[in-house]
Amino acid sequence: MLAPPVSTSPQPDSLWRHLAGEAGSFDAPVGAGPLTRDLQVDVAVIGAGYSGLCAAHALQQRGVSCAVLDANPVGWGASGRNGGVVSSKFRPSFSAIASAHGLDVAKRMHRLAHDGVRTVEALLEECGIARARFERTGSLRCAHTERALASIVAEAEWVRASLGDRSMTVLSREAVRAETGSTGFVGGVLSADAGTILPLEYVLGIARSLAARGVPIHTSTPVLAIDRAPGVAGVTLRTAGATVRARQVIVATNAYSDLTPATDAMRRELVPFRSAMIATERLPAALDAKLMTQRRSYTETRRMMKWFRRADGRMLFGGRDAFGKEGQDTGFEALRRAMVGLFPDLADIRVEFRWSGYVGMTFNALPHVGRADDATVFCVGYNGAGVAMASLIGQHAAALALGDTPDLALLAQNGLRPVPFHALRAPGVRLVAAWYQFLDAMGA
Ligand SMILES: Cc1cc2nc3c(=O)[nH]c(=O)nc-3n(C[C@H](O)[C@H](O)[C@H](O)COP(=O)(O)OP(=O)(O)OC[C@H]3O[C@@H](n4cnc5c(N)ncnc54)[C@H](O)[C@@H]3O)c2cc1C
Repeated sequence: MLAPPVSTSPQPDSLWRHLAGEAGSFDAPVGAGPLTRDLQVDVAVIGAGYSGLCAAHALQQRGVSCAVLDANPVGWGASGRNGGVVSSKFRPSFSAIASAHGLDVAKRMHRLAHDGVRTVEALLEECGIARARFERTGSLRCAHTERALASIVAEAEWVRASLGDRSMTVLSREAVRAETGSTGFVGGVLSADAGTILPLEYVLGIARSLAARGVPIHTSTPVLAIDRAPGVAGVTLRTAGATVRARQVIVATNAYSDLTPATDAMRRELVPFRSAMIATERLPAALDAKLMTQRRSYTETRRMMKWFRRADGRMLFGGRDAFGKEGQDTGFEALRRAMVGLFPDLADIRVEFRWSGYVGMTFNALPHVGRADDATVFCVGYNGAGVAMASLIGQHAAALALGDTPDLALLAQNGLRPVPFHALRAPGVRLVAAWYQFLDAMGA
């Protein structure tokens, strides 16, 4: 029996957890509880976030036996903590992708980005997750300088002319001010193919649907080792209580790949970046009617980007915090200050919830999905935009595990490629973040 060298922490007390109430509470767990007896399946999945559960959903649809193992409750990772912004983009722009890799690749990437949103819609329908309250509100990118506005307008025009995508509209300074209630922006670009969701309800809903279809989801079950025996096909996953034999394993542990040494190779593929969120108390009626009247998701153009949305009558505000660790207070006060800077009306409004988690950044700013070896598929690195993308990529990871060759364009990774100088990633992240903050402060 292996002793579990697991580094984990309690589930944060987020607004999502509060809204899920008793039925979605982590004290009333979804899934079959810890693994206590040996299992044999075709495909084992490590990680019960969007990636792992969507992989399991695709496998179940194809009649393939599978089991999901997670060190924590369902949705403990980023999937239960995020901002709930469902978007159809990657971090690099489509025009930059075309310049570097050609128009055909940009078209394929564009299709993948929009397929992500379609995947979320289809899963909500198939799994009957009305509680996730998905709304296709569109997402408004708000420009903080004229230069930033010119850049996002040029991208919208390029996408329209070169990819035939008419889902983006330019909004004037007045229109953005009227809609957001903030004078902090000079204009913006609205992407229609995007929306908002209750992220924890979404991940719990997929898990409940899988459990109802007989897919075992074993929580509180850290995978401690992935063993391969010479000359024997498949893998054996070792947990504290039992083992799982499988022909294939899908590793879907993303920014939490450091919980045990079993997923060390995936850990080295990523730079984890802390991302924090605050939610205010419920807004008084006058502010409720004034701020973000269209109830979309909103992002801004600063390098150390902030995003915001409304939910439950509250204002939610999020941003990256390269300087703090999970569980620390740093960053929350800076977020509140940034929020009040953009929305001075909120100066006297109390912050009621604050929480954080890790996003998995990659060197090329794109998700990575592929085979580590003949029995191991991995899907990681959503760079902070994984609600739609992890849902899609989880399904593609399942296809890879079954020997299919889905079109993954630039997301396809032939083998793992550790981040160079991985040991220096923490100081490196801090250095880059400090430089970005300096440039943002200078309005560059
Ligand atoms: C604060 C925050 C805000 C965000 N906002 C947005 C947003 O608005 N829109 C958006 O698109 N994206 C957003 N993201 C990113 C998005 O949440 C992630 O990209 C996505 O949830 C990744 O899902 P996943 O299933 O790959 O990983 P996760 O949900 O992180 O799941 C990984 C799971 O693996 C488990 N695990 C790890 N190691 C082991 C092991 N050895 N054995 C068993 N289990 C293991 C963990 O317990 C965890 O549950 C945000 C992220 C954060 C942290």
